[in-house]
Amino acid sequence: MIENMLGYELVRSNKKQETPLCRTVDEMTAIMKLMPKDVFAAVDMNHIKHPENLIMALGKRLKSVHIADGDGKKECHYFPCSGEGENDWSAILLALKKVGYKGPFMYECAFKDVKDLRACFEGLRCNYSFKLLTNPSKHALKSFTSLKAHSYIKGPL
Ligand SMILES: [Zn+2]
Repeated sequence: MIENMLGYELVRSNKKQETPLCRTVDEMTAIMKLMPKDVFAAVDMNHIKHPENLIMALGKRLKSVHIADGDGKKECHYFPCSGEGENDWSAILLALKKVGYKGPFMYECAFKDVKDLRACFEGLRCNYSFKLLTNPSKHALKSFTSLKAHSYIKGPL
């Protein structure tokens, strides 16, 4: 499993610039093309601005997600429902739906109570569904109409 990492502004404590790989959509997809087909990708939602673009670029090679909010510039790992961070969770959920992601909604963030994790997931999914209903673009509408009711309400993405 290969995870995308933070971008160019990450600095080590010794003040030298760190140069991790997989910082951008282009870098991640280029590296994944060099890997054997049984090597898959994880998208850390806190490590990149607009993670939905990376999700779409990875497609079926996406096998895991790290759920956290941030600004894509530094390690934040905010709880997605904390109101901090800049992620568009409806766009992220739509991208996960489009690539057929079936893996866990795996949080990698600070939280107060474990019960908040499920409530947050349900809230994000509710917002996503509401946006699709009230502001359907052609793509979103197509995705929504192909969604099965049971998986829409109870199941995984
Ligand atoms: Zn991570």
